Amino acid sequence: MPDNKINCIGVMTSGGDAPGMNAAVRAVVKAALYNGIEVYAFYQGYQGMVSGGDMIRKMSWDSVGGILHKGGTKIGTARCKEFRDRSGRLEAAKNLIERKIDNLVVIGGDGSLTGANLFREEWPLLLEELLTTGQINGEQAEMHPKLNIIGLVGSIDNDLSGTDMTIGADTALRRIAEALDAISSTAASHQRTFVVEVMGRNCGYLALMSALSSGADYVLIPERPPQVDDWVQQLCDKITANKKAGKSKSLIIIAEGAKDKNGNPIRSFEVVEELKKRIGEDARLTILGHVQRGGAPTAFDRYASTVLGYAAVKSLIESEQDEESKIIGLQKNRVKAISLVESIKATQSIVKHIENKEFDKAIQLRGGSFRESLDTFKTLSRAKPKHGDVDGESLNILVMNAGTLAPGMNIAVRTAVRLGMDKGHKVFGVRNAFKGLIRGDIEEMGWMDVEDWTSLGGSELGTNRKRPVSRDFYEIAKNLEKHKINALLIIGGMVGYEAASDFLKKRNEFPAFDIPIVCLPATINNNLPGTDFSVGADTALNSIIDAVDKIKESAVATKRVFVVEVMGRYCGYLAMLSGLATGAERVYLHENGITLQDLQNDVNMFKKAFIDGKRMGLVVKSEYANRIYTTPFISALYEEDGGDIFDVRQSILGHLQQGGNPSPFDRAMATKLAANSIDFLIKKVINGKNDVVSIGLHGGHMDYRNLEDLEKMVDVTFDRPKEQWWLKLEEIINLFGRSSA
Ligand code: ADP
Repeated sequence: MPDNKINCIGVMTSGGDAPGMNAAVRAVVKAALYNGIEVYAFYQGYQGMVSGGDMIRKMSWDSVGGILHKGGTKIGTARCKEFRDRSGRLEAAKNLIERKIDNLVVIGGDGSLTGANLFREEWPLLLEELLTTGQINGEQAEMHPKLNIIGLVGSIDNDLSGTDMTIGADTALRRIAEALDAISSTAASHQRTFVVEVMGRNCGYLALMSALSSGADYVLIPERPPQVDDWVQQLCDKITANKKAGKSKSLIIIAEGAKDKNGNPIRSFEVVEELKKRIGEDARLTILGHVQRGGAPTAFDRYASTVLGYAAVKSLIESEQDEESKIIGLQKNRVKAISLVESIKATQSIVKHIENKEFDKAIQLRGGSFRESLDTFKTLSRAKPKHGDVDGESLNILVMNAGTLAPGMNIAVRTAVRLGMDKGHKVFGVRNAFKGLIRGDIEEMGWMDVEDWTSLGGSELGTNRKRPVSRDFYEIAKNLEKHKINALLIIGGMVGYEAASDFLKKRNEFPAFDIPIVCLPATINNNLPGTDFSVGADTALNSIIDAVDKIKESAVATKRVFVVEVMGRYCGYLAMLSGLATGAERVYLHENGITLQDLQNDVNMFKKAFIDGKRMGLVVKSEYANRIYTTPFISALYEEDGGDIFDVRQSILGHLQQGGNPSPFDRAMATKLAANSIDFLIKKVINGKNDVVSIGLHGGHMDYRNLEDLEKMVDVTFDRPKEQWWLKLEEIINLFGRSSA
């Protein structure tokens, strides 16, 4: 057991509930127990802390079993009036001291975190009062001179400055996307306009991201009101233009806190009435309400909360004397500790700016990625391209998919087509990836051709794993020349990257290859260099966890180990992340290898756990983890060795992992990457440059890698990057997979 300076931690969820809170509590409890630290949960948030008694319960390894995949929060949450008063906080302090708790992990929104910090600041005075009134003794006061606070942000609104994502926001977006996909299909059948209100009192994140990822036509958010006075007329004109352009439906998304430029609230039912009055449009209103909070957390909310909860305990263990309260959040896909006070201050200043109608300042503080999304949305939602002046000549841009299917490919193509056309260029599409490029299956794309491609899984252009060889290059060069192609965007997997790198090498032979090329990462395997994520992987992860949730439910009455095989080829990303998100005890990856000894140890670990009362086990295996120790082999070995103690079922998930509508994260990423790729390509052609690059995302930050260096970045034998950021997560799986601390 590791050494540490702290003995006891309290954990609670407070304020509005958010999916993923359970995962965070589980991680805090397990990480603490593993480190030899006692953990208490405060039931119903601050209410439990103030009331004490049975509402403060000591947690064991088993008390957080079976909650990872559940929505809501098992330890309850509440709004607590008493804690807002000093007398309530005095009671709370007494309850903490009695249990020797002076370290807290508070999971909640900015209200809960503000309360926690106030509590920390008052702590010495509260103790003094408890001492002078004889409620605690001198020794107790001396033992707990300060209170340490770590905050984890649980809020579906994603409204806290300093962390890129809050716990619950990804799930809320998924719920909204599911609803919007369903509404879109009925709206299109009836040629209807739908007005949908989503949550977000002070933050337009959910509204903006769901508008971007649903192909909506108009979005109203608190931070950026419509710039014109009569915006209702603007909206009416848009719907009329949509109809003229042949659009089958119109979709308007309104954040609950949306305002006009004079600061007056925009009410969704009034918008519907106005549409009827002004243009006779029989628009339908849907207020999504609490469905946005409900349901099982997404893969991201499960693994991010797990990683954050683990980091929270680590941070408490490592914290120095008199350190200020911190929030553990995510910045650019990395766990970061930030000042709680600063973060709350920044968050509240955005709210103030909105109240004071200083909208430019509010939007500025939301950050570059938010602003960029807003601009991209404006262009994509036009009924037809703007025919502005083109900077120089009109270019011919070619867009294609390559490699195996990845959900999100269509929205990337849609974005490229519309943004390219909007800038005055022609965009051509290739049918069936490199096979089509060799055959000359190339067509100019139109604005409305891609209208309904936002939510579609699969690849409308067509894709396959063909990589060009020998004479193929000649045919491809001929076709590029025929269509006078100035720039190429390849949306796909490693096959696309390798082909782009081949084109670069063959420029002397084929001048048609002397054009800028961007490879946009799209593969469920997430095995591409120069990016943390690839389009499609998040959707696949969600498909996996949905399937595993069902598989686990099938084992109610038996003692059973499931061996689940997931895709990924030689890359263990899907296995590792889904293992983390489903609470697997073990993951088997090609990167780390499997030995017979490992398997033997793992069977023994399971045997002991089942004898001690465990009911179910889960092992996630990457498809090519080992040539000999296949899924049937491992299952048979477990079954044989497990004897009467447990039985084993294997499940090879297969192609369901490539299917389905893309997740909001994949849609947003595909949009962002495609928008930047098109800008990049146009700029390069105009400046006479012919770079061949991949575009990548590191958290919210985008950059490009020169594909001359492809071999340096990739392990060519196994088609995966030499460096993979997520490999270190196995430490958490192995730790949390133990059957006890
Ligand atoms: P959220 O944490 O989701 O923003 P609230 O703002 O409702 O939700 O806060 C949840 C609880 O946190 C409150 O009911 C109260 O107990 C406590 N709290 C919030 N703000 C403060 C404050 N300024 N001082 C003390 N306690 C607070």
